[in-house]
Amino acid sequence: MTRDARTVRLPTVSRLAVLAVASLVALLDCGPEPAPPNLVLIVIDTLRADHLGAYGYPRDTSPTMDGLAAAGSLFLNATAPSSWTKPSIGSLFTSRYPSEHGAVSFEHDLGGELSTLAELLRQRGYHTLAANGNFVHVTEPRGFARGFDVWSADGIEVPPSAEGALLTVEIPEGEPVALRAPTAREINRVVEEKLGTLHGGPLFLYVHYMEPHPGFDPPPRHLERFLRDPDRHAAAPPATAAYISMLARGEIRPDPGEVERLIDLYDAEISAVDEAIGDLRRVLAEAGFASPILMIVADHGEEFLDHGGWFHGIHLHGEVLRVPMILHDPRRAGAARRVAEPVDLLDVAPTLLALAGAPIGTQMRGRNLLAEGAPLAGRDIVAELHPDPVLAGHLRPRSHRFAVTRWPWKLIAHGDGRTEVYRKDRDPAETDPLDARVEGMPADLARAGAALWRAPEAIAGGSAAPDLDDEVLHGLRALGYAE
Ligand SMILES: [Zn+2]
Repeated sequence: MTRDARTVRLPTVSRLAVLAVASLVALLDCGPEPAPPNLVLIVIDTLRADHLGAYGYPRDTSPTMDGLAAAGSLFLNATAPSSWTKPSIGSLFTSRYPSEHGAVSFEHDLGGELSTLAELLRQRGYHTLAANGNFVHVTEPRGFARGFDVWSADGIEVPPSAEGALLTVEIPEGEPVALRAPTAREINRVVEEKLGTLHGGPLFLYVHYMEPHPGFDPPPRHLERFLRDPDRHAAAPPATAAYISMLARGEIRPDPGEVERLIDLYDAEISAVDEAIGDLRRVLAEAGFASPILMIVADHGEEFLDHGGWFHGIHLHGEVLRVPMILHDPRRAGAARRVAEPVDLLDVAPTLLALAGAPIGTQMRGRNLLAEGAPLAGRDIVAELHPDPVLAGHLRPRSHRFAVTRWPWKLIAHGDGRTEVYRKDRDPAETDPLDARVEGMPADLARAGAALWRAPEAIAGGSAAPDLDDEVLHGLRALGYAE
């Protein structure tokens, strides 16, 4: 018996010794665990993907972003879950669809039930900082500041008559006050100032630039590069949000030269924001946050008569849903890739959490886009639009309710029960609707969207007696959402 016990004990001891040596070797090999990376999430409001060089646009609007895309991951078919800011950013922050996170209309806020990306990163020890130019929809009272140590999201106060004060809130009582969205340069200055108060990383920075959102008033240096007819521009009305809204309502019918001018202004705004991304990288490096991982996306696109209209937040066609998505990780130099499989803004939070070494958790519907062997093709990509009870009578009507894409099929459902079907491989611009009973279309496509979509009154969080004060209504008007 003694002998048996000894023969058992000896191998156990030697196995432990081998394990200890192996652990020591592993430690010597790898050194301490790598520090979590600094993460920067850049949202460019209203930027459609096909106006960037990286997505095939012939004009040189985006050299900075193109360079980042060439060295990183370029997602060629990225979709937003709605065609306006609030529901889309709600999904970006929670990795859930609008009907699930609840921020579907002006009166519905981002509820507190779901964790936000910023909260989850803060739990992992990240400093969380927001410099956000969308001071109308993405605000602290609306639930979007949750998880941020520093939340900066102010409009810039200007005299109501100021040059370039195109996003203007005019409060009728008291002193006339006007606000405009901050420029990308102003946002970068906020980042510079706030970074000075932080000591060491890791950092999660959310930057939200507004340049491509109507109204269009690009800096002259960028305007000169893109304006094809300066004489026409000199004689034309300023391209304010109110002017674009009049186009969207059909009150003005622009001739082809005017359409071309507005596209030139939009492209010049993209050029300005592209340059600001280069400046932001310098600001980060000077503050000691060198080589951060950048994720660049947009909340939705913009229509320039693609389906006979203007603006966004009105329907769910490709020009307002297809957004850029560029992931640049300086630690993976030489690992450039172009991803054609459909991806979604819901994929952003799980991807950034995985990069931070944080668990993704069961809340997230999206996927970690860097995971090996996780096929992205074949899944349903959903987008939603909801009628807005508060803005009924103010906002232009929204004709679509949801869209479901299961490559190559896309189905769009209207509120009155009508559906449109497209084959994206043959008709990427969605101009040739097919019969809904066309051969080969998956029979359950409509059910996939209908299972998610809920009427605003069925979503918790909205107030029973919505009320818009003058300041809020003027803010919405300034951004073109209300008449
Ligand atoms: Zn937006």
